[in-house]
Amino acid sequence: MMFKNDKKRMLLKQVTCTGLLVAMAGCFTNAALAQSTHVSPWAPTELNNIPPVASLKGGIWLKGDLHLHSRHSKESSNNPIAKIIAFSKAAGVDYICITDHDNHVDGDVAHNTWADPEFKSDSVLLLYGAEWTTTRGHGNVFSAKPYDHQRLYDVRDQRDIVIGAVKKELGVHLSANHPSGKDHFGYSYDMIESIEVWNSAIWSKNENAIMIWDDMLSSGRKLTGRGGSDAHHGTPDTPDKATKNSVQATANYVGTPTTWVYATARTPQAVVDALTNGRVSVSANPYAPRVEFYADLDQDGKMDMMMGDNTKPTGKPVKFRIQLTGNTVPGETYTISVVKNGNKFDTLKVTGKTPVAEFTDTPATLGRTYYRVTVEGPGTPYPQVPESMKLSGNMVGLSNPIFFNFDPNF
Ligand SMILES: [Zn+2]
Ligand SMILES: [Zn+2]
Repeated sequence: MMFKNDKKRMLLKQVTCTGLLVAMAGCFTNAALAQSTHVSPWAPTELNNIPPVASLKGGIWLKGDLHLHSRHSKESSNNPIAKIIAFSKAAGVDYICITDHDNHVDGDVAHNTWADPEFKSDSVLLLYGAEWTTTRGHGNVFSAKPYDHQRLYDVRDQRDIVIGAVKKELGVHLSANHPSGKDHFGYSYDMIESIEVWNSAIWSKNENAIMIWDDMLSSGRKLTGRGGSDAHHGTPDTPDKATKNSVQATANYVGTPTTWVYATARTPQAVVDALTNGRVSVSANPYAPRVEFYADLDQDGKMDMMMGDNTKPTGKPVKFRIQLTGNTVPGETYTISVVKNGNKFDTLKVTGKTPVAEFTDTPATLGRTYYRVTVEGPGTPYPQVPESMKLSGNMVGLSNPIFFNFDPNF
């Protein structure tokens, strides 16, 4: 009898378990159903608010450096503003932004760097800016005209929502500096327009900055990638003025790397606007070839958009073109890596005096797509900064992305 009872109990137990399993399965089915009917309020929808692409004609390519320290940064040496400007002019650099550490002057950049009698040029465009140097890292400010930098310095330790409001009122372009290195930009990327994806001549240390950029782009943040030498040290006028850091002047100075912008005019405002719009590529130095990246939407052989531009895809294949302009090395091969939405998409090889490569792809009609390229190949000598060439290695240049379906109201 005991045996029978036990068996009966076991049987009951089994039935209960089976019942439970059935109930659980029902739950899972309900969960799956709930999952399939759930619609995220943020799911991609058709965008009809993308403004038309700006003209590809009538602009001017300008090259410059967006991260430089003069004598107003306390750790710099032999680097008065006049020396930086004279060097820039001699190297054919069109614009620069001297970004001294604001903490060295308690935020009063206006009465230091900008008030320096040497802060003037008849040929090199000078942007107003500073390196916002805070406990949570560094960012560069770029402006065509003077602005109240003191306010940005004073607000630096507040919540990002407060800082973002001040930054918006100032109407300046804010950029994340050396985002994966020491003093990385530790603020929200929602309050910046660009990111320093190539800091200094040492290209190899920028790999993680590129990873962060791709993460931001992939998540809908249309941030411009830019360069900056972060040079602090000039060549001493006489040997006795040399410091332990003077050797840096031969390896990392104005233009290592060089940021190219396609500006509508040769004015500081046009430089800042081009930077914000992403019509930008970065090259190892001022003499290295410039990377240009275009797209032909209707395959009529005429390019319709360039780096930084954003449009709604038609559902038809798009022809993309990469062109290297400037001092290419005849007979040498350049390797172009195409990145689509953060992933490697294609590798192309080009040669010739003005190397051109093309590829075709169809961007998705719903949801975001972006393409960008990096170019590797022979280095270009930079006689004024002779040691920089080996620090940048094979890296020739990189483009900003061409965008599809990036929501302007994001
Ligand atoms: Zn810094
Ligand atoms: Zn710096």
